[in-house]
Amino acid sequence: MSEVCVRVAVRIRPLLRKELLHQHQVCVRVVPSGSGQVSLGSDRLFSFDHAFGPTASQDEVYESCVQPLVESLLDGYNATVFCYGQTGSGKTYTLGGGSKGKLLKKEMVVTSAEELLGAVEMGNALRHTGATGMNEHSSRSNVILTLQVHIRSYSNKNPSLKTVRSSKLCLVDLAGSERASKTGNTGAQFKESALINTGLLALGNVIRALSDRGRSRRGNGCSSPHVPYRDAKITRLLRDSLGGNAHTVMVACVSPSHHFIAETLNVLQFASKAR
Ligand code: ADP
Ligand code: MG
Repeated sequence: MSEVCVRVAVRIRPLLRKELLHQHQVCVRVVPSGSGQVSLGSDRLFSFDHAFGPTASQDEVYESCVQPLVESLLDGYNATVFCYGQTGSGKTYTLGGGSKGKLLKKEMVVTSAEELLGAVEMGNALRHTGATGMNEHSSRSNVILTLQVHIRSYSNKNPSLKTVRSSKLCLVDLAGSERASKTGNTGAQFKESALINTGLLALGNVIRALSDRGRSRRGNGCSSPHVPYRDAKITRLLRDSLGGNAHTVMVACVSPSHHFIAETLNVLQFASKAR
Protein backbone atom coordinates (compact mmCIF):
# COMPACT_ATOMS: atom_id res chain seq x y z
CA MET A 1 0.00 0.00 0.00
CA SER A 2 2.74 2.44 0.87
CA GLU A 3 4.39 2.01 -2.57
CA VAL A 4 1.51 2.46 -4.97
CA CYS A 5 -0.32 5.69 -4.40
CA VAL A 6 -3.04 5.38 -7.05
CA ARG A 7 -5.14 2.28 -7.61
CA VAL A 8 -7.87 2.01 -10.17
CA ALA A 9 -10.89 -0.25 -9.99
CA VAL A 10 -13.82 -0.69 -12.34
CA ARG A 11 -17.32 -1.62 -11.27
CA ILE A 12 -20.00 -2.79 -13.68
CA ARG A 13 -23.47 -2.38 -12.25
CA PRO A 14 -26.29 -4.83 -13.05
CA LEU A 15 -28.79 -4.07 -15.79
CA LEU A 16 -31.64 -2.14 -14.21
CA ARG A 17 -35.19 -3.37 -14.40
CA LYS A 18 -36.20 -0.92 -17.08
CA GLU A 19 -33.13 -1.85 -19.12
CA LEU A 20 -34.11 -5.51 -18.88
CA LEU A 21 -37.64 -4.62 -19.93
CA HIS A 22 -36.27 -2.82 -22.98
CA GLN A 23 -34.02 -5.77 -23.72
CA HIS A 24 -30.73 -3.93 -23.40
CA GLN A 25 -27.80 -6.24 -24.11
CA VAL A 26 -24.73 -6.52 -21.90
CA CYS A 27 -21.63 -5.16 -23.66
CA VAL A 28 -19.04 -5.13 -20.87
CA ARG A 29 -17.96 -8.03 -18.66
CA VAL A 30 -15.35 -8.98 -16.10
CA VAL A 31 -12.93 -11.50 -17.68
CA PRO A 32 -13.41 -14.57 -15.48
CA SER A 33 -9.83 -15.75 -15.26
CA GLY A 34 -8.08 -12.44 -15.84
CA SER A 35 -7.30 -10.61 -12.69
CA GLY A 36 -8.75 -7.15 -12.91
CA GLN A 37 -9.57 -7.29 -16.63
CA VAL A 38 -12.78 -6.34 -18.35
CA SER A 39 -13.83 -6.91 -21.96
CA LEU A 40 -15.89 -4.45 -23.95
CA GLY A 41 -17.75 -5.78 -26.98
CA SER A 42 -15.90 -8.68 -28.57
CA ASP A 43 -12.49 -7.22 -29.10
CA ARG A 44 -11.36 -4.80 -26.43
CA LEU A 45 -9.64 -5.60 -23.13
CA PHE A 46 -8.82 -3.20 -20.31
CA SER A 47 -6.77 -3.90 -17.18
CA PHE A 48 -7.29 -2.50 -13.71
CA ASP A 49 -6.17 -3.24 -10.18
CA HIS A 50 -9.63 -4.62 -9.43
CA ALA A 51 -12.67 -5.39 -11.56
CA PHE A 52 -16.11 -5.91 -10.06
CA GLY A 53 -19.03 -7.39 -11.95
CA PRO A 54 -22.76 -6.93 -11.45
CA THR A 55 -22.95 -9.46 -8.62
CA ALA A 56 -20.21 -7.83 -6.51
CA SER A 57 -21.51 -6.65 -3.16
CA GLN A 58 -20.81 -3.33 -1.45
CA ASP A 59 -18.79 -5.31 1.11
CA GLU A 60 -16.54 -6.82 -1.55
CA VAL A 61 -15.87 -3.42 -3.08
CA TYR A 62 -15.24 -1.93 0.37
CA GLU A 63 -12.89 -4.71 1.45
CA SER A 64 -10.75 -4.56 -1.70
CA CYS A 65 -10.74 -0.84 -2.35
CA VAL A 66 -11.55 1.17 0.76
CA GLN A 67 -10.52 -0.85 3.81
CA PRO A 68 -6.77 -0.67 3.01
CA LEU A 69 -7.16 3.12 2.80
CA VAL A 70 -8.95 3.27 6.12
CA GLU A 71 -6.12 1.28 7.67
CA SER A 72 -3.54 3.63 6.15
CA LEU A 73 -5.49 6.57 7.66
CA LEU A 74 -4.72 5.19 11.07
CA ASP A 75 -1.03 5.19 10.11
CA GLY A 76 -1.30 8.90 9.34
CA TYR A 77 -1.80 8.83 5.57
CA ASN A 78 -4.49 10.86 3.86
CA ALA A 79 -6.76 8.84 1.61
CA THR A 80 -9.15 9.58 -1.23
CA VAL A 81 -11.79 7.48 -2.94
CA PHE A 82 -13.22 8.80 -6.21
CA CYS A 83 -16.10 7.48 -8.19
CA TYR A 84 -15.93 8.38 -11.85
CA GLY A 85 -18.41 7.56 -14.60
CA GLN A 86 -21.45 8.67 -16.53
CA THR A 87 -24.69 9.64 -14.85
CA GLY A 88 -26.57 6.48 -13.86
CA SER A 89 -23.48 4.24 -13.75
CA GLY A 90 -23.53 3.63 -9.97
CA LYS A 91 -21.17 6.25 -8.49
CA THR A 92 -23.48 7.37 -5.70
CA TYR A 93 -24.59 3.80 -5.05
CA THR A 94 -20.95 2.72 -4.69
CA LEU A 95 -20.20 5.52 -2.21
CA GLY A 96 -23.18 4.46 -0.17
CA GLY A 97 -25.29 7.54 -0.79
CA GLY A 98 -28.78 6.95 -2.01
CA SER A 99 -30.67 10.13 -1.62
CA LYS A 100 -31.46 12.31 -4.51
CA GLY A 101 -29.38 14.81 -4.09
CA LYS A 102 -25.42 21.30 -3.40
CA LEU A 103 -23.02 20.87 -1.43
CA LEU A 104 -22.66 21.14 1.98
CA LYS A 105 -20.01 23.77 2.46
CA LYS A 106 -20.09 23.34 6.18
CA GLU A 107 -17.87 21.54 8.65
CA MET A 108 -19.52 19.42 11.28
CA VAL A 109 -18.05 17.56 14.20
CA VAL A 110 -19.41 14.07 14.50
CA THR A 111 -18.67 11.71 17.31
CA SER A 112 -20.45 8.56 16.22
CA ALA A 113 -21.20 6.58 13.10
CA GLU A 114 -24.89 7.54 13.40
CA GLU A 115 -24.11 11.26 13.47
CA LEU A 116 -21.84 10.80 10.48
CA LEU A 117 -24.53 9.06 8.45
CA GLY A 118 -26.98 11.81 9.39
CA ALA A 119 -24.54 14.45 8.10
CA VAL A 120 -24.06 12.53 4.84
CA GLU A 121 -27.83 12.29 4.35
CA MET A 122 -28.13 16.01 4.90
CA GLY A 123 -25.37 16.71 2.41
CA ASN A 124 -27.09 14.57 -0.19
CA ALA A 125 -30.42 16.21 0.46
CA LEU A 126 -28.87 19.64 -0.04
CA ARG A 127 -27.09 18.52 -3.15
CA HIS A 128 -28.16 20.54 -6.09
CA THR A 129 -29.10 18.53 -9.11
CA GLY A 130 -30.27 20.53 -12.08
CA ALA A 131 -32.73 18.73 -14.28
CA THR A 132 -30.67 17.87 -17.34
CA GLY A 133 -32.12 16.28 -20.43
CA MET A 134 -30.54 12.93 -19.61
CA ASN A 135 -31.80 12.18 -16.16
CA GLU A 136 -33.60 14.45 -13.79
CA HIS A 137 -31.42 13.37 -10.88
CA SER A 138 -28.29 13.59 -12.93
CA SER A 139 -25.59 15.26 -10.93
CA ARG A 140 -23.77 18.12 -12.46
CA SER A 141 -21.92 18.75 -9.23
CA ASN A 142 -18.85 17.18 -7.69
CA VAL A 143 -19.54 16.14 -4.11
CA ILE A 144 -16.69 15.82 -1.64
CA LEU A 145 -17.13 14.33 1.81
CA THR A 146 -14.06 14.90 3.96
CA LEU A 147 -13.59 12.98 7.20
CA GLN A 148 -10.90 14.42 9.38
CA VAL A 149 -9.48 11.78 11.72
CA HIS A 150 -7.62 12.73 14.89
CA ILE A 151 -5.93 10.03 16.92
CA ARG A 152 -5.20 11.23 20.43
CA SER A 153 -3.40 9.60 23.28
CA TYR A 154 -3.69 10.42 26.97
CA SER A 155 -0.66 10.15 29.14
CA ASN A 156 -1.12 8.93 32.72
CA LYS A 157 1.39 11.39 34.12
CA ASN A 158 0.09 14.37 32.21
CA PRO A 159 -3.66 14.18 31.82
CA SER A 160 -3.73 16.90 29.19
CA LEU A 161 -4.77 15.73 25.77
CA LYS A 162 -2.13 15.06 23.19
CA THR A 163 -2.79 14.80 19.48
CA VAL A 164 -0.60 12.15 18.03
CA ARG A 165 -1.72 12.07 14.43
CA SER A 166 -4.31 13.48 12.16
CA SER A 167 -5.26 12.47 8.67
CA LYS A 168 -8.24 12.74 6.39
CA LEU A 169 -10.37 10.60 4.17
CA CYS A 170 -12.08 12.19 1.17
CA LEU A 171 -14.94 10.47 -0.58
CA VAL A 172 -15.55 12.11 -3.94
CA ASP A 173 -18.70 11.56 -5.98
CA LEU A 174 -17.76 13.18 -9.26
CA ALA A 175 -20.12 14.84 -11.69
CA GLY A 176 -21.22 12.69 -14.61
CA SER A 177 -18.47 12.05 -17.14
CA GLU A 178 -20.77 12.32 -20.16
CA ARG A 179 -20.18 15.00 -22.72
CA ALA A 180 -22.04 18.26 -22.37
CA SER A 181 -23.36 17.88 -25.92
CA LYS A 182 -25.18 14.62 -25.17
CA THR A 183 -27.22 15.98 -22.30
CA GLY A 184 -28.59 18.80 -24.48
CA ASN A 185 -27.53 21.46 -22.00
CA THR A 186 -27.67 25.05 -23.06
CA GLY A 187 -26.72 28.44 -21.62
CA ALA A 188 -25.61 28.53 -18.01
CA GLN A 189 -25.90 24.78 -17.58
CA PHE A 190 -23.77 24.21 -20.65
CA LYS A 191 -21.04 26.44 -19.24
CA GLU A 192 -21.20 24.56 -15.99
CA SER A 193 -20.88 21.22 -17.79
CA ALA A 194 -17.90 22.49 -19.71
CA LEU A 195 -16.30 23.58 -16.42
CA ILE A 196 -17.02 20.24 -14.82
CA ASN A 197 -15.40 18.48 -17.73
CA THR A 198 -12.36 20.74 -17.36
CA GLY A 199 -12.24 19.59 -13.74
CA LEU A 200 -12.46 15.92 -14.68
CA LEU A 201 -9.76 16.38 -17.29
CA ALA A 202 -7.49 18.11 -14.77
CA LEU A 203 -8.16 15.35 -12.25
CA GLY A 204 -7.23 12.71 -14.82
CA ASN A 205 -3.97 14.55 -15.52
CA VAL A 206 -3.15 14.76 -11.80
CA ILE A 207 -3.89 11.09 -11.21
CA ARG A 208 -1.84 10.10 -14.24
CA ALA A 209 1.12 12.21 -13.12
CA LEU A 210 0.88 10.64 -9.66
CA SER A 211 0.89 7.09 -11.08
CA ASP A 212 3.90 7.95 -13.24
CA ARG A 213 5.61 9.34 -10.19
CA GLY A 214 4.80 6.13 -8.29
CA ARG A 215 6.34 4.09 -11.10
CA SER A 216 9.48 6.19 -11.28
CA ARG A 217 9.89 5.91 -7.48
CA ARG A 218 9.61 2.16 -7.78
CA GLY A 219 12.80 2.05 -9.67
CA ASN A 220 13.19 3.05 -13.27
CA GLY A 221 15.15 6.08 -12.26
CA CYS A 222 13.06 8.64 -14.15
CA SER A 223 12.69 12.00 -12.56
CA SER A 224 9.34 12.78 -10.89
CA PRO A 225 6.85 14.32 -13.29
CA HIS A 226 5.18 17.64 -12.54
CA VAL A 227 1.73 17.19 -10.95
CA PRO A 228 -0.64 19.86 -12.35
CA TYR A 229 -2.74 20.49 -9.22
CA ARG A 230 -3.40 24.15 -10.08
CA ASP A 231 -5.29 23.48 -13.30
CA ALA A 232 -8.78 23.22 -11.79
CA LYS A 233 -10.72 23.98 -8.65
CA ILE A 234 -11.26 20.36 -7.72
CA THR A 235 -7.56 19.47 -8.01
CA ARG A 236 -6.60 22.54 -5.92
CA LEU A 237 -9.17 21.50 -3.31
CA LEU A 238 -7.93 17.94 -3.17
CA ARG A 239 -4.25 18.73 -3.38
CA ASP A 240 -3.25 17.35 0.02
CA SER A 241 -5.54 14.37 -0.48
CA LEU A 242 -3.84 13.30 -3.70
CA GLY A 243 -0.25 12.19 -3.91
CA GLY A 244 2.44 12.89 -1.36
CA ASN A 245 1.15 11.65 1.94
CA ALA A 246 -2.02 10.21 0.40
CA HIS A 247 -3.39 7.00 -1.03
CA THR A 248 -5.96 7.23 -3.79
CA VAL A 249 -8.44 4.80 -5.26
CA MET A 250 -10.49 5.62 -8.32
CA VAL A 251 -13.53 3.48 -8.94
CA ALA A 252 -14.66 3.80 -12.55
CA CYS A 253 -18.35 2.97 -12.66
CA VAL A 254 -19.98 1.73 -15.86
CA SER A 255 -23.36 0.58 -17.04
CA PRO A 256 -23.37 -2.86 -18.70
CA SER A 257 -25.87 -1.76 -21.38
CA HIS A 258 -24.91 -1.69 -25.07
CA HIS A 259 -26.92 1.50 -25.16
CA PHE A 260 -24.07 3.35 -23.39
CA ILE A 261 -21.15 1.58 -25.08
CA ALA A 262 -19.59 4.82 -26.40
CA GLU A 263 -19.50 6.47 -22.96
CA THR A 264 -18.37 3.23 -21.33
CA LEU A 265 -15.46 3.08 -23.79
CA ASN A 266 -14.52 6.67 -22.82
CA VAL A 267 -14.63 5.86 -19.12
CA LEU A 268 -12.63 2.63 -19.45
CA GLN A 269 -9.99 4.40 -21.55
CA PHE A 270 -9.77 7.30 -19.09
CA ALA A 271 -9.54 4.96 -16.12
CA SER A 272 -7.05 2.52 -17.60
CA LYS A 273 -4.80 5.45 -18.57
CA ALA A 274 -4.92 6.71 -14.99
CA ARG A 275 -2.98 3.69 -13.75
P1 ADP B 1 -24.76 7.76 -10.53
O1 ADP B 1 -24.51 8.26 -9.14
O2 ADP B 1 -23.50 7.32 -11.22
O3 ADP B 1 -25.56 8.72 -11.37
P2 ADP B 1 -26.48 5.86 -9.20
O4 ADP B 1 -25.55 5.44 -8.11
O5 ADP B 1 -27.55 6.82 -8.85
O6 ADP B 1 -25.65 6.41 -10.45
O7 ADP B 1 -27.08 4.52 -9.83
C1 ADP B 1 -28.08 4.54 -10.87
C2 ADP B 1 -29.10 3.44 -10.57
O8 ADP B 1 -28.51 2.16 -10.62
C3 ADP B 1 -29.73 3.57 -9.19
O9 ADP B 1 -31.06 3.18 -9.29
C4 ADP B 1 -28.95 2.55 -8.34
O10 ADP B 1 -29.70 2.07 -7.28
C5 ADP B 1 -28.66 1.47 -9.38
N1 ADP B 1 -27.38 0.79 -9.11
C6 ADP B 1 -26.14 1.33 -9.28
N2 ADP B 1 -25.17 0.44 -8.98
C7 ADP B 1 -25.81 -0.68 -8.57
C8 ADP B 1 -25.36 -1.97 -8.11
N3 ADP B 1 -24.05 -2.26 -8.02
N4 ADP B 1 -26.30 -2.86 -7.78
C9 ADP B 1 -27.63 -2.57 -7.89
N5 ADP B 1 -28.11 -1.40 -8.33
C10 ADP B 1 -27.23 -0.45 -8.66
MG1 MG C 1 -24.98 10.09 -8.41
